Formats: sequence, C-alpha cells, structure tokens
Amino acid sequence: MIEGKGMSEPQNIIAVVYDFDHTLSPQYMQDQTILPHAGLDPQAFWQSCTALITQQGYDQELAYMKRMLEHDAIRTLSNRDLHGMGAQLTFFPGIPDCFGELNAIIQQPKYQEWDVHVEHYVVSSGLEAILAGSEIAKWTKAIWGCQFDEAGGHISFPKRTISHTQKTQYLFRVNKHLLDPAQDVNDHVPEEARRVPFPHMIYVGDGPTDVPCFTVIKKHGGLAVAVYNPDDPTRRSFKKCYDLAHHADRVHFMAPADYRSGSPLRLILEQHLTEIADSIVERRRHAIAATRIAAPPP
Ligand SMILES: [Mg+2]
Repeated sequence: MIEGKGMSEPQNIIAVVYDFDHTLSPQYMQDQTILPHAGLDPQAFWQSCTALITQQGYDQELAYMKRMLEHDAIRTLSNRDLHGMGAQLTFFPGIPDCFGELNAIIQQPKYQEWDVHVEHYVVSSGLEAILAGSEIAKWTKAIWGCQFDEAGGHISFPKRTISHTQKTQYLFRVNKHLLDPAQDVNDHVPEEARRVPFPHMIYVGDGPTDVPCFTVIKKHGGLAVAVYNPDDPTRRSFKKCYDLAHHADRVHFMAPADYRSGSPLRLILEQHLTEIADSIVERRRHAIAATRIAAPPP
C-alpha cells in the first residue's frame, strides 16, 4: 500500500519521544564531549552563555553555539568529529537496553498479528551530530537537535536550532510523519491520515524546558512523564519534577530516571504502552468487523 496524504492510516504505531539532557543522560551532552575536548570548564562556559542571553538578548541555543565557535579547539572540528564524540555520552541506568525491552513487549504475537509497533524519537536543544553518534541512535527512528553548517570541513555557523518552544513542532512531525525538517510541518493532514495520533504518543522530559511539549502532549490526549535524577543531592532535579506534577499540573506521572526493568518509570511506560497497544488491536478488530457487516450479500 502506498502511504500518502488523504489516505487513512492504519494508526498502528506507538511513539515514545524523549528529551535528552537530564532525561536520558544525567549530564549536559556538551559537558561530556566538546567542552572537555577544548579544555573548557563547563560552569564558566555556561556562565559565558548566560551573559549573552541576559545582556544581549541572545536565544539560548544561538548563545551556546556562538560561544563554541569562539574557541579554536571547537571551531576546527567537523560534524564528523562531533559524531565521533557521541560514544562518550553517559546515560541513566537502563539506557539503551530499555528501548529494545520496550519493543519486545509490543513484539508479542497478540500485537504483531495486528502489526502494532513502537518507535522511539529524541528531540533535544543540544547537538544532533553528537546524539547521532551515540549508542541510542540505533534505537531511534529519528533524532533532532541543533546543527552546525560546515565550511572547509569545519563547523562554521548554526544551520538549525531547536529551542524548547520549537521542540513541540517535532511532536507534530511524528504525528503527521513529516520527519524531514525540510518538509513544512504546517501542511494540513486530516486526523485519519496522521500516522501517529497523539493518544498513541508518550513524552518523557525532565523540567521547565519540556513544558511546551508536556502541554501539547497532554492537551491532545498523549501521556506526559517527568523524570528526575534520584542521585542529585541538591534535590533540584526532584523539585523541578515535583513543581511540574503538583503545582503546575503539567504531567501525568513523575518517576526517578531509572529505565531498568521493574523500576517505577518502566512500570508506567510498560502499562501505558500495553494500554495503547490493546486499544489499537480493539479498534482494528472493530473496523474489520464493521467492514464485514457493511459488505453486500454475495
Ligand atoms: Mg532536559
């Protein structure tokens, strides 16, 4: 069958969309890769970015990309070099095994009979090239982040930035299956032709920068899950989640960022994945039954 706009979609896909920094990893990706490569102290680096933002009105992502290009040790890198640094990223417990283990739940015969699938996506305000070179890349259908253009084999200028408000655009890209950022996400796609309806989506994030995504997901019937680092002795990570869940009512659940089998987060994800998968099977069964009833007698 040829997929296309205007045709109804089987809507048999479940999408889990993750933020990266402090959601899948306990650290900022730059702190584990580019900054140590250039011998820069992360705290001083991020303070220099904050100065651009607060004193000159820079966008956050343009601020860090500009500051990076001010250092020879970074400016002389290529996107290929950034890709190679992806191997240095560290993750919360259970990543990346969690992706395959969640897939396995939906690979049971009762779901496979109806062709139900799970897909994983990452949307980050960090650098896409680094994520694309990491362990998680082989488990994801798409990864989106900020990108540098190159000149003469060196990173030269921001090609694309993804701010926390722009991140919501990528939820609609998953929803409408317009995965290439060159495609206009505002193209009209009727509800029945959307590949992944919002009720089939889960968004996992960690804090205020995920509020726009949590809001879009929740408003359209998806599941919003906030995670925190249980090993943060300052409890700042926990407090961010607590505020999102309790004071702001932005998320359905909060859980420690532990993706191992049996953890509270895994129980939430697995419970919801199976509920979505069961609803997909139910709906497809009904659709087929309805077709049979509607068919004219032979
Ligand atoms: Mg984050």
